[in-house]
Amino acid sequence: MAIVVGSGAGGATVAKELAAAGHRVLIIEKGPAIAEVDAHRYYENVDAGVKLMRTCCLGGTTMVSAGNALRCLEEELLGCGIDVSAELAEAERELGVCELPDELIGEGTYRLMEAASRLGFPVRKMPKFINPDECCRDGRCSLGCPAQARWNAVRFVERAQMLGAALVTGQAVTGILTHGSRVTGVRCGSREYHDDLVVIAAGAMETPRLLGRIGIPTTPLFCDTFASIGGVCPGIGFHLDVPMGAYLPHSSSLILTHYARQFVTALKAAGHHAGEGDILGMMVKIRDEASGSVGETIEKGVTESDSRKLACGASIAGAILTEAGVDPATFVSLPLRGSHPGGTARIGLSVDTRLMTRVDGLYVVDASVLPATPGAPPILTIIALAKYAAKRM
Ligand SMILES: Cc1cc2nc3c(=O)[nH]c(=O)nc-3n(C[C@H](O)[C@H](O)[C@H](O)COP(=O)(O)OP(=O)(O)OC[C@H]3O[C@@H](n4cnc5c(N)ncnc54)[C@H](O)[C@@H]3O)c2cc1C
Repeated sequence: MAIVVGSGAGGATVAKELAAAGHRVLIIEKGPAIAEVDAHRYYENVDAGVKLMRTCCLGGTTMVSAGNALRCLEEELLGCGIDVSAELAEAERELGVCELPDELIGEGTYRLMEAASRLGFPVRKMPKFINPDECCRDGRCSLGCPAQARWNAVRFVERAQMLGAALVTGQAVTGILTHGSRVTGVRCGSREYHDDLVVIAAGAMETPRLLGRIGIPTTPLFCDTFASIGGVCPGIGFHLDVPMGAYLPHSSSLILTHYARQFVTALKAAGHHAGEGDILGMMVKIRDEASGSVGETIEKGVTESDSRKLACGASIAGAILTEAGVDPATFVSLPLRGSHPGGTARIGLSVDTRLMTRVDGLYVVDASVLPATPGAPPILTIIALAKYAAKRM
């Protein structure tokens, strides 16, 4: 049997792959099984300086993803001796990655794309794991898709269950059990589950805590820190666009079209009256320095180099918004956030190239193992790594 701790991008994939290979699998998930549309109620963000975002429920943080499907860290993984090109292609096929048709790209996104092009920036449509035939284009992906158009990890959990996997929800793993140099199971409070194959996939803010308690070295946290910049554009209706419909890569950041509901309050506080439909915005997401830590508390600040990257990206975002017709006098920015926490149990330091720790039979398969800051959506890469590791378990 195999015990998988956590059911997000990493955990659900490894559970499905192991079940398909004939293992008996037990998935232990801390959060509850939920209706997808309620996902926004399960945010368990951590204010670590930069606000770190995640959801704790069946399916993990994939339940609020924007469906962005970029490959990332392929070269860095090759540098570690891991080639996931075949697994990435398989993940893209399984998730149905595609560009959205023109009718699903709203006027606001088009206006920003055209403005970026006029300014000479290489803007592209974002590939998505969203089924265009099901998409209801209400802009709520990161609150929980009401139309079940976007892939999430519950689909892989359900597939694993069809293949015989057992699932326990509402139980947090509190400790890893070992005997000598071997793993023997996990503890959930007073309850124990025993097995000699255990996969920790509790996300980059929880996995290192579990590893640290048994003396496995952990590594500093990154999060792809992002800034949201918006301003008034009356009647544009951008809040209904599929979020992050377009992006432009820039040296150390990714600049995306982006609406945040918090813009309304921020604009009001700055003395501008704008309803949800009167705002255009952009996100500047940087490859931040891995300067954070996860211990009793979680800390993640902004280094000088991070500040420079954010300022550089913000000047480009500001220029594009202005070109798109937003009055710069109405610009507001939101507190810094990070939606890709990772790197806390890196390949080469906490786990080997099979993603196994120095404890025999104990693996880590989530964003913790990423070898460098992605600066891009990591779900495809996490899924590919989970497939790669499952073959070697
Ligand atoms: C708003 C938002 C939008 C995003 N959009 C995108 C996107 O469009 N594309 C993309 O590629 N990425 C996106 N991301 C990032 C992506 O969702 C995460 O990087 C990815 O889900 C991380 O996978 P994971 O397996 O490491 O952790 P998670 O998916 O967070 O899964 C961890 C799971 O472990 C469970 N858990 C935690 N502790 C325990 C415990 N002690 N015992 C048992 N279970 C436990 C949690 O409840 C959770 O279910 C987005 C993130 C956010 C916040």
